[in-house]
Amino acid sequence: MSEYDIVIIGSGPAGLEAAITATIRKKNILLLGQKKCSTKLFKAHAINNYLGFPGIEGSDLEERFEEHIKALGIEITPKTASAVYDMGDYLAVQSCSDMFQCQAVILATGVITQNLFPGEEALLGKGVSYCATCDAALYRDKTAIVIAYSKNEEPEAEFLAEYAKNVIYIPMYDNPEVSKDNIEIVNKKPAEILGDDSFTALKTDDGDIPADGVFILRESIAPDTLIPGIEMDSHHVVVKKDMSTNIPGVFACGDITGLPYQFIKAAGEGDVAALSACAYIDAKNKA
Ligand SMILES: Cc1cc2nc3c(=O)[nH]c(=O)nc-3n(C[C@H](O)[C@H](O)[C@H](O)COP(=O)(O)OP(=O)(O)OC[C@H]3O[C@@H](n4cnc5c(N)ncnc54)[C@H](O)[C@@H]3O)c2cc1C
Repeated sequence: MSEYDIVIIGSGPAGLEAAITATIRKKNILLLGQKKCSTKLFKAHAINNYLGFPGIEGSDLEERFEEHIKALGIEITPKTASAVYDMGDYLAVQSCSDMFQCQAVILATGVITQNLFPGEEALLGKGVSYCATCDAALYRDKTAIVIAYSKNEEPEAEFLAEYAKNVIYIPMYDNPEVSKDNIEIVNKKPAEILGDDSFTALKTDDGDIPADGVFILRESIAPDTLIPGIEMDSHHVVVKKDMSTNIPGVFACGDITGLPYQFIKAAGEGDVAALSACAYIDAKNKA
């Protein structure tokens, strides 16, 4: 298992700023997230309230962020964290078949405001999956449904289609471009995950779709699914002023901690979370 001082989950403004501060503080970090920072940055046209960059386009700000982390030798590892375990002496972060050991975790995954589908939580691991890369091999010659919330998930569906007989792709965004003969794009609205002991079908606004499994690919996994036991207030992680959570060694920053959803607040909290994580590790090592 690879060892780090801090694993930062999420590469939006909050996670990048946390990575910058932790690196300046000479901590050994792993930054997990999408290579191109945050989809929200690309959606923002003119940003008028980011200090020093009046009217900057989201894509230009993203380039500035990339240059900044590159100058410090920080790399984004393009992996999704699927679970965080409190092992007592240390924390372990899982991403598919990889496991990373660390002293502190900074959650910077952005907010998800979508509710889980009825039946989703009960059948997680029983035909419901959040990671095609991890579970594709289980669907050899079977039929799988993919509910995808962004274009970033298209390669995941195409990878799944290399194993599965059929993939039914339900895009929750406009203009999907998946290109494999055994992927069928279906524009229906998912409503419920059906099955007693294991998944049997997806209920939609236009009838049920039977399949062997369903992959629900959101940009972010709900924090309390990622770390069971973390204190939540609706969709947000409860933090103290130093960005610590109720779980020792776990810090959170950015949209995940609540309103207002703003770039500068996310970056500022990333800085505080990193400083607090460094102080936590230093105190632990001294003790
Ligand atoms: C259209 C639009 C316009 C906006 N305009 C403005 C504006 O003008 N001014 C302003 O201040 N704010 C604006 N915002 C808000 C701003 O985008 C957010 O406040 C900011 O992006 C929050 O940063 P974050 O780092 O907390 O989360 P995000 O930017 O959401 O980044 C989270 C990152 O974590 C990754 N991630 C999630 N889960 C995992 C996981 N399990 N493993 C690994 N990685 C994971 C995601 O892929 C993503 O890259 C706008 C938002 C939108 C949608």
